Amino acid sequence: MYKPTLDYAQQQDKEDKLAHLRAQFHIPKDAKGNDWLYFTGNSLGLQPKQTQQYIQQELDDWAKYGVEGHFEARNPWMPYHEFLTNSMAKIVGAKPIEVVVMNTLTTNLHLLMVSFYQPSKTKYKIVIESDAFPSDRYAVQSQLKFHGFDTEEGLIEWKPREGEELLRIEDLEKIVDEQGDEIALLLIGGVNYYTGQYLDIKRIAEIGHAKNCMVGIDLAHGAGNISPELHDSGVDFAAWCTYKYLNSGPGSLAGLFVHEKHAHNKELPRFAGWWNHNKETRFNMRQPFDVMPGAEGWQLSNPPILSMAAIRASLDMFEEVGMEALRAKSEKLTGYFEYLINQIDTDRIKIITPSNPKERGCQLSIQVQHADKSLHKKLTENNIITDWREPDVIRCAPVPMYNSFKDVYRMVEILKTLL
Ligand SMILES: *Cc1c(COP(=O)(O)O)cnc(C)c1O
Repeated sequence: MYKPTLDYAQQQDKEDKLAHLRAQFHIPKDAKGNDWLYFTGNSLGLQPKQTQQYIQQELDDWAKYGVEGHFEARNPWMPYHEFLTNSMAKIVGAKPIEVVVMNTLTTNLHLLMVSFYQPSKTKYKIVIESDAFPSDRYAVQSQLKFHGFDTEEGLIEWKPREGEELLRIEDLEKIVDEQGDEIALLLIGGVNYYTGQYLDIKRIAEIGHAKNCMVGIDLAHGAGNISPELHDSGVDFAAWCTYKYLNSGPGSLAGLFVHEKHAHNKELPRFAGWWNHNKETRFNMRQPFDVMPGAEGWQLSNPPILSMAAIRASLDMFEEVGMEALRAKSEKLTGYFEYLINQIDTDRIKIITPSNPKERGCQLSIQVQHADKSLHKKLTENNIITDWREPDVIRCAPVPMYNSFKDVYRMVEILKTLL
């Protein structure tokens, strides 16, 4: 099995069939020209070298054709979002009709809640994880308020037990068993941003649906990291950003999933714009609104092509490699990282991410005793890029697309000396 030596790490890199991908990314460097040890692909993925050329193509066609680029560009802008759909659907395990790339993540969560959070006077509560990403918490609080409910009373938190860090599915079951008649929606992070815990999405859908609750999943930390099999999971909706594991650039557009069972329901309440109107008659301009089937039926505006070009550059890489190969490397790489950290003789740090590879993606969350932030600072001074999350965790994500076994080895060697 694993060995704690540089030789071993280098040998793994030699045998790694995905090792060549690293050279296809811009890796940030220190003042001496050495690559940073970049472990924050869970926050902002690195730039694929081909991204520039994909964006340049659209700039060139804009220069050349002006408005005619909507039809005449090499990749016509009118249907541009459709070029992303198949690859994106594969990444999250969905059917093409279930997926669209549009807007940004929090915006998409709101648009989805317009349709799937339909509270009544008695069934109106929303369940989130107690450690939900702040944006998700603010979003559901504002939805509660918008519908006239008290944000304290209407929000139920699924919490880890006293003295534990991770969530237990039985505790969610209990919440929904006891209060399901009052719960309208479960909105859960599929991979928790703080602990890195990958929850059983299918089980969450079953638990919610047993009590007629809608189930939505935030996959910001899941897309491009784990294989969530969204269609088979049966969840009603999901959304995710593309700038984390999907390497599509700061603030780039987000993904949206609506399960096929809702694809043809034109009665679902939703907001409208010309981009979710029937493509065939969109430019007749005077037609009454006629919503498109599937996830495309949640779009509002014509999308920013330059951002989509960056997403396309990245998705083409995922298409070439496939999630299966990425996951296989990821399990091994993160397993090695965990193994090396566990070899360090110290009680100053502890990994809180599940040790079962089926319950995590590539991220490991290292809890630091006494919330000693100086450790994170020292890592950064050594050109090891990780992130600190309050109250006491350093998040590190060895990303299978561009991180190597040697990266992981060197990181832990430095961590050891700092401890
Ligand atoms: C990264 C992240 C966000 C960020 O939302 P934006 O709308 O893209 O700014 C929201 N929720 C989760 C769970 C995240 O991980």
